[in-house]
Amino acid sequence: MKAKVVTFPVGLYQCNCSIVYCPESKEAILIDPGSEAETILKKINDQGLNVKAVIHTHAHLDHFGATSEVSEETKAPVYLHADDKQLWDIADLQAEMLGLPKCPHSNIDHFIEDSQSFEFGEFNLEAIHTPGHSAGSTCFKIENSDEQLLFSGDTLFKRGVGRTDLPTGDSREITKSIKERLYTLDIDTQVIPGHGPNTIIGEEKRQNPFITA
Ligand SMILES: [Zn+2]
Ligand SMILES: [Zn+2]
Repeated sequence: MKAKVVTFPVGLYQCNCSIVYCPESKEAILIDPGSEAETILKKINDQGLNVKAVIHTHAHLDHFGATSEVSEETKAPVYLHADDKQLWDIADLQAEMLGLPKCPHSNIDHFIEDSQSFEFGEFNLEAIHTPGHSAGSTCFKIENSDEQLLFSGDTLFKRGVGRTDLPTGDSREITKSIKERLYTLDIDTQVIPGHGPNTIIGEEKRQNPFITA
């Protein structure tokens, strides 16, 4: 059996929001509800899913604009790496800077630890702390029967890497994170980035113009 993965872009910045779930137990984890709470809730309800956790790759507002509404509706706890709390707390300022609507503030229920795993049905998602795009940036990996999937947030894109010129960004850190934590994964790992098309770890190691292996 394979975990189901539903990924769709939301909001002005087209953040990739993902719902991963176990088709048998219907337990789900929601990743980066950046905007469009109604669209996200409809997908959850249409499949009859029980959301166990709302988790975030980082605290840029385009990745958590719908968190408050979705977590309230699903009653699922909210998770973020502690090193991004300061960004989370300036959501209103981010809205102004990014030209996004202000959104209701959500509490963080739990901080994500490196290597923490989030169980859903028979599956689990493992957190990999990858600072650089922001101090608390985190990727999530699923072992999905014989295939591996990585949600890379704004750390690694198809032929690109995240910008490091925003508060708490650090170009040396992102290089280290990608080389030591992502390029060391199985080369066949499928990558679902925070924006834009999917890629594969082996392809990025060979062809990413910013960071090669
Ligand atoms: Zn970002
Ligand atoms: Zn983003």
